[in-house]
Amino acid sequence: ATPMSIMTGTGKGAQNGILIRNAEALEALETIDTLVIDKTGTLTMGKPELVSLLPAGGIDESDLLAAAAAVELGSEHPLAHAIVQGAKTRDLPLGQATDLKSVTGEGIEATVGIRRVAIGNEKMMRRVGATDEAWLASAEEGRKRGQTVMFVAIDGKPAGLLAVADPIKPTSKAAIEALQERGIHVVMLTGDSRATAEAVAREMGIDEVEANVSPEDKSRKVSELKAAGRRVAMAGDGINDAPALAASDVGIAMGTGTDVAIESASVTLVRGDLTGVVQSIALSRATMRNIR
Ligand code: ADP
Ligand code: MG
Repeated sequence: ATPMSIMTGTGKGAQNGILIRNAEALEALETIDTLVIDKTGTLTMGKPELVSLLPAGGIDESDLLAAAAAVELGSEHPLAHAIVQGAKTRDLPLGQATDLKSVTGEGIEATVGIRRVAIGNEKMMRRVGATDEAWLASAEEGRKRGQTVMFVAIDGKPAGLLAVADPIKPTSKAAIEALQERGIHVVMLTGDSRATAEAVAREMGIDEVEANVSPEDKSRKVSELKAAGRRVAMAGDGINDAPALAASDVGIAMGTGTDVAIESASVTLVRGDLTGVVQSIALSRATMRNIR
């Protein structure tokens, strides 16, 4: 490609909030036939709000939320923010958390007072020994409504469920439809649970979904698609998306996401809006057409 047209292309992108790192990225965008997409913070606002609290094992609601929020103060995850905000809204005093241990894609645990508090998904609960199957299954109800349900364990025993709802970005659905109309196959990969993932995918018209996916699995899935001959772009926002962004043909980070995601990607969408994926592919197609 001629350097001049490429510069014009990347310049036009920049004016529209699409930062393209280099000529290779702009060229590669033209050939993309598959978009792998993260859910939380990419399709959704990533600004979840606490919508329900379900204590277990004799603890009360305030104690449950205060303990969880004390731990989540140590996490950057959007879900953590929702829990801390929920506690603040209810004017709960947050204890001091020490010995924080965060497990990417699973959750976080810490010591609050004399108690060891863990919060996260089912994997996190199995890690700390809170394996009451009926309790774990009780999360399904909220999930079918598209909520993300997290478990809280205290000293390895079930202490409650916290449910958050994360609204879908207003532009997501139209962007997904536009990509599908352009012949791009959309695959959603998320660390969230199957029921939540399927509820969101159904609303978005996405028919291929994998849930409970670890950051390494996201990256593995991208590599598998590439090995099968697909030309894969990956759009994501989180630390958990960084390996997959790096493994894809074109990594696309939400500018509203974490620095690690942005550093791992070759395209950054300043506005963090999936319309930018449609625009960047259109820009690449137009630029490459110009060159030929
Ligand atoms: P996504 O792929 O949707 O962006 P992640 O991989 O970041 O999600 O997280 C997967 C799941 O792990 C979340 O849905 C949540 O259940 C749990 N999780 C991760 N981090 C935290 C945290 N700080 N607090 C509570 N739960 C967490
Ligand atoms: Mg995310």
